[in-house]
Amino acid sequence: MDFIIATHNLKKRDELQRILAPLGINVFTADEKGVELTDAEETGTTFEENAYIKAESGCRESGMPCIADDSGLMVDYLDGAPGVYSARFAGKHGDDEANNDKLLALLEGVPDEKRTARFKSAVCCVFPDGRQITVSGVCEGKIGYERLGDGGFGYDPLFMVGDRSFAQFSKEEKDAVSHRGNALRELVKILPEMLRYNPKEIKNDR
Ligand code: IMP
Repeated sequence: MDFIIATHNLKKRDELQRILAPLGINVFTADEKGVELTDAEETGTTFEENAYIKAESGCRESGMPCIADDSGLMVDYLDGAPGVYSARFAGKHGDDEANNDKLLALLEGVPDEKRTARFKSAVCCVFPDGRQITVSGVCEGKIGYERLGDGGFGYDPLFMVGDRSFAQFSKEEKDAVSHRGNALRELVKILPEMLRYNPKEIKNDR
């Protein structure tokens, strides 16, 4: 089955594809399917709401099953910020460097034990017949004192799991513990049952 993914982030697409491929699910961006999707406005106050907004809009516009992830970083010292605003923490959407600089500045002088944080991901699938599934996953860690590593994306260079940052993990190591990996493993438990339930109604032949 083909899913369209409501994101322009190819690294996220690759993460989803690696985990869903064993289920026989292929994930394509709108560009890859020759479909144009409008960027749905993320007006929700939770990751789950925003994942649904993106998946519902992508499914409606493409006519294909659509999968969307909404994710972000929650820092305890900052009362859960940046949360749903993670991508635009420093103002401009998706400016990873500025976001990491702002996070380091806000945590300057904050001791190790108060630097606890977690990534959270909500993943939503919406099908053309109206069915939907939303799952979520978290990954606990701490915010480091400087950028470490050159892999990953977003806040990965500052997000420490044990004594390494996510940017120092291999892709497979990150998948095994990440928030998105944990959410997708939940999805993998539920999805086969849902697809068996009424597969004829799922139009995926575009
Ligand atoms: P979204 O694309 O609206 O879900 O925004 C997610 C934002 O959260 C991204 O811009 C990243 O800054 C951050 N984020 C989400 N997942 C990760 C991850 O696995 N590593 C690093 N940053 C992430």
